[in-house]
Amino acid sequence: MDTKCLHIKQGGERLSREEEAGLRQAAEIIRGGGLVAFPTETVYGLGGDALNPESSRKIYAAKGRPSDNPLIIHICRFEDIRKIVRQLPEAAVKIAEAFWPGPLTMILPKAPIVPRETTGGLDTVAVRFPSHPVAQKLIAYSGGYIAAPSANLSGKPSPTSAKYVIEDMDGRIDMIIDDGEVGIGLESTILDLASDMPRILRPGYITQEMLDKLLGKVDIDVTIVEPDSGQAPRAPGMKYRHYAPKGRLIIVEGPAERVIPYINGHAAENQRAGEKTGVIGTAEVLEQYHADVVKCIGSRKDEETIARNLFSVLREFDDENVTSIYSESFPAQGLGQAIMNRLLKAAGHRIVKL
Ligand code: AMP
Ligand code: MG
Repeated sequence: MDTKCLHIKQGGERLSREEEAGLRQAAEIIRGGGLVAFPTETVYGLGGDALNPESSRKIYAAKGRPSDNPLIIHICRFEDIRKIVRQLPEAAVKIAEAFWPGPLTMILPKAPIVPRETTGGLDTVAVRFPSHPVAQKLIAYSGGYIAAPSANLSGKPSPTSAKYVIEDMDGRIDMIIDDGEVGIGLESTILDLASDMPRILRPGYITQEMLDKLLGKVDIDVTIVEPDSGQAPRAPGMKYRHYAPKGRLIIVEGPAERVIPYINGHAAENQRAGEKTGVIGTAEVLEQYHADVVKCIGSRKDEETIARNLFSVLREFDDENVTSIYSESFPAQGLGQAIMNRLLKAAGHRIVKL
């Protein structure tokens, strides 16, 4: 398949005439049952018509993703949620008022119009109203409902830049909308509102603290931030291998005075065995590492940058031929909860505590 590429140069709310025409063409592809990768404020999405079961099948095929891993339906007007959910609880309205458009997905009982192909066979549907202006226009022009997971091959880190979408999806989908790098860099917070108590299934930019403040108290699944709770994951998608780089990723937790010598020691040992070692470190201590490839994820003082860099750093290591990668650990509070959740998944929950 020949994959077209639409470059958004101007961006923002005001698109050029060519960009508008390109988005109309992208929408025609989606209406016709094709697939278009598009930018959102979190990561790039791989979009198809959410109400067309054939489109959802194509999404799973293009990603090489198991079809019991549900997709998120993206809308561009709050009222549009009413057509795809069976009930709209008061909490959902409150959350939408506070955080939509934005990086938060709600799980609600699905209406019959939503095909089971889109929800991975479930009776619930995931809904998000993204804030990215290109995403909003594409959704509007496509008829209002775009099903989209992240636009990566299954198991790889979500794409935070169009170049990674091209890497994974060129030749597999109809079009890629290239708007450069995204703003947030981690996927949306997923909040389950279909059970008795609101529960976070995936932490994200909208934090547990922010949701607690609005709703009183929200639950978070223990399997999400515990290194190894020994419990089976509750949400679909949580059971699959995620974000894994080619090298063996190990998180090292503890004070810097212990973490740095530990990592340097292992790097030296690996070198004697003829193997290359990578390090994911923070700006403050980066110079103290001695390993083959040392990558900076940002400053400890700036969690937003760490979040934005995480997936691209993981992808960059795939080109470095390292057999192991050691990463610093981060406090699992606020945005750190989402950072640690992704890092733990990428590491297959391997963590050393010093
Ligand atoms: P992605 O952001 O690519 O991982 O795509 C969607 C993710 O949303 C899935 O992996 C699931 O974890 C989650 N999800 C979507 N729909 C549902 C649902 N109905 N119930 C629980 N989780 C869901
Ligand atoms: Mg994904």
